[in-house]
Amino acid sequence: MPLDFASLRPATREFLARRARGEGLLIDGEWRKAASGNTFATLDPATGSELGQVAAAGADDVNDAVAAARAAQVKWAATIPVERARILWKIADLLEANIDELAEIETLDQGKPLFVGRWAEIPGAINQFRFFAGQAMNIEGNTIENSINYQPEGKQVRSWTVREPVGVVAAIVPWNSPLVLTAMKLAPALAAGCALVLKPAEDTSLSALRLAEIMVEAGLPAGVLNVITGLGGETGATLAQHKDVDKIAFTGSTATGRAVLDAAKTNFKRVTLELGGKSPSIVMPDANLDLAIPGVANAIYFNGGQVCIAGSRLYVHRSIHDQVVEGVANYAKSLKLGHGLEADTQMGPVVSLRHAERVEGFLQRAKGAGATMLTGGERTGEAGTFITPTVVTDVTPDMEIVREEVFGPVLVAQAFDEPEEVIAAANDSEYGLAASVWTEGLSNAHRMSSEIKAGTVWINCHAMYDPALAIGGVKQSGWGRDSGKQALESYLEWKTVCAVV
Ligand code: NAD
Repeated sequence: MPLDFASLRPATREFLARRARGEGLLIDGEWRKAASGNTFATLDPATGSELGQVAAAGADDVNDAVAAARAAQVKWAATIPVERARILWKIADLLEANIDELAEIETLDQGKPLFVGRWAEIPGAINQFRFFAGQAMNIEGNTIENSINYQPEGKQVRSWTVREPVGVVAAIVPWNSPLVLTAMKLAPALAAGCALVLKPAEDTSLSALRLAEIMVEAGLPAGVLNVITGLGGETGATLAQHKDVDKIAFTGSTATGRAVLDAAKTNFKRVTLELGGKSPSIVMPDANLDLAIPGVANAIYFNGGQVCIAGSRLYVHRSIHDQVVEGVANYAKSLKLGHGLEADTQMGPVVSLRHAERVEGFLQRAKGAGATMLTGGERTGEAGTFITPTVVTDVTPDMEIVREEVFGPVLVAQAFDEPEEVIAAANDSEYGLAASVWTEGLSNAHRMSSEIKAGTVWINCHAMYDPALAIGGVKQSGWGRDSGKQALESYLEWKTVCAVV
């Protein structure tokens, strides 16, 4: 059934009328069309209905956006920290005041159940702005004792460091959790005194446009945030190669991360990369299964598995393997799939037809290689891009389904006998983004958290996010961290000053 626009909130309808008609580039404080006039459609993945047209920015638009950011950055960096903090806090307040509309926009464009945006991701975005409002007033250099002994008679050599913003940042973000992932770039960059050009993912541009409106309303000066929508290989690639961009803050796939890294070579841009994952959930024999079974199920099925840190590889001790895997399969079967705007929906569609076909491809190849679909494993629904929540068994460690990131509701389950064996299996991956360990034993918790190679290890939980907790990966899961003081660091340079006084 096509989307019933009349059922949407008036604020959402007004937003779509205002910004989803191809006039959605924000450059130097002005909303405009792409210079070429080109647009592309953005769809509701649950029904396939067109939500509107988004501007496809070309090279001229990218140049204008970077030039606007360059001009604005100097003034923004000179703004006293308390003023930057005030604006960041105001953005958070306005996001909160508009949270129901934002959640509806995110659900329409991305497909996620309303509760995911309304109660998890958008509050997460709000907290990013509040945390980094504080950090804006917490930027420090050092004074350094030096051993320079050739100063003129009667003089001393003093040395110190100051922190300066990196400059103009290109923020390039994916489609799975658009608002919170965008906030994870914008909030620390603005706190540090950087100006930005934001490139949202082509499947989910809308919430970035509403966020940008809110940031303008909060008093962010013109040019400090510019938004250019468009396709990755065109708008994204042009932005990544631009020689007047100082840093690329990228979240997306490992393959695109490689392209971004190549593009950064043009002028040795600073680069942070938050990339893919194939994160293990490990259930030890002493786990509390009342916690672990729904915990590992939620680790993969939340947001339809379209989460970078999704627990997509399940390792269960052989003594409890069947009980846990059956429990997770029952959880998967119980999930209500539907349009994200329906109140009882627990899992929505995947983001696009292209992505649904990609996930289906993984499932077909896994079946061909001899894996069993204990539950799920197929497309479902008359319209939209729904995939049934899936548990895959009878796999071997070399299979594609065990090694590659599917980015859908697909869990691969395997048994283990010894802790050494599961640590080796968990680490047998090109990725190293996250892991969870389910155990009541202190020794297990310490040993596993130290020996698993990942940016984050959760014990008896999964996907606990907080703006104060750095998130990011080792190995091919990326470079650098979002959130936490580490994120602020990545938008700052060190300057050393040495003075004879
Ligand atoms: P993607 O790499 O296809 O796209 C990400 C962004 O890059 C989009 O805005 C896209 O338009 C742009 N892009 C594409 N080609 C480009 C190019 N050549 N130059 C510059 N920009 C380009 O990723 P996706 O499919 O949108 O998102 C899913 C991926 O993101 C998954 O691999 C997931 O694990 C990863 N992800 C990682 C994290 C993390 O924090 N580590 C968080 C969320 C998602």
